[in-house]
Amino acid sequence: MAVIINGKAIAADIRNDIKQGVDELIKAGRRPPYLAVVLVGDDPASASYVQGKQKAAHEVGIQSDTRTYPDSITQADLVNVVHRLNDDSEVDGILVQLPLPDHIEYQRVIEAINPDKDVDCFHPENVGKLMLGLPGFKPATPAGIVELIKRSGIDIAGKRVVIIGRSNIVGKPLASLLIQKGVDATVTVCHSRTQNLPDITRRADILVAALGRAEFVTADMVKKGAAVIDVGINRVDDATKERGYRLVGDVKFDEVAEKASFITPVPGGVGPMTIALMLQNTLVAAQ
Ligand code: NDP
Repeated sequence: MAVIINGKAIAADIRNDIKQGVDELIKAGRRPPYLAVVLVGDDPASASYVQGKQKAAHEVGIQSDTRTYPDSITQADLVNVVHRLNDDSEVDGILVQLPLPDHIEYQRVIEAINPDKDVDCFHPENVGKLMLGLPGFKPATPAGIVELIKRSGIDIAGKRVVIIGRSNIVGKPLASLLIQKGVDATVTVCHSRTQNLPDITRRADILVAALGRAEFVTADMVKKGAAVIDVGINRVDDATKERGYRLVGDVKFDEVAEKASFITPVPGGVGPMTIALMLQNTLVAAQ
């Protein structure tokens, strides 16, 4: 049976370190870091993510407010919102909650953010720095995954990592982080056009599932003794729950846990790390 990686506890350790960093800034006479969150529309899932981020920010001493705009906001107006936050010297970090409505080109909004305030690390300048291995912000979910692996005592150097999913927010930046000198993984990135996926996943020492398909990864896709990191967050109908659904990952947890050496649960695995690493970027921005 695999060791179940406790993302909540590891994220709490990181948040403690962030709190210390914030306290030191304040002792040195600087105001607390300030994170501005921009939320468009009234999607309950987005609202709940934003609430979670704000609560976590306040707990480590980072000030944070959410500016909420209706679905009908134009792209130009939203870009202006971002420009005003760029110009506001009190704002250290800017986070635009995704997804945005269909009439808004998300890339235009992200490119409007001052790269020095881009705590999600989505701006092309920051993505470029990541690729080149230059110092700067780290993308929250991928950096959270690397921290989870390292802090669980799993060796990465020289190991074969297979990532299922090539999105700009998880798969691609995770591959960039893992192949940096000093991290030294050998990485394969798979996607929906990958042929013979199970043949590839079965060769992984570390398997990362980030495809957004409920319980897609089954035990027969996993090598015995592999470490399995489940990034997926999927809602499946469940009449026994008051809210009518439950959250599951991209991995069939029970059967894969029997075969893996380490596994992350959903919830309580990668999710809490994402918020912690975003807060770390906000502290870095303030520093
Ligand atoms: P996207 O939908 O942007 O990307 C999914 C990727 O998976 C794509 O590259 C897609 O391939 C690939 N894919 C889809 N189906 C298959 C398949 N059958 N076989 C192989 N590859 C496949 O998702 P995200 O990266 O944004 O998110 C992935 C999951 O992670 C979601 O469940 C999301 O909720 C969760 N997530 C969790 C976070 C956390 O903090 N825990 C943070 C971010 C995301 P192709 O490119 O060919 O379409």
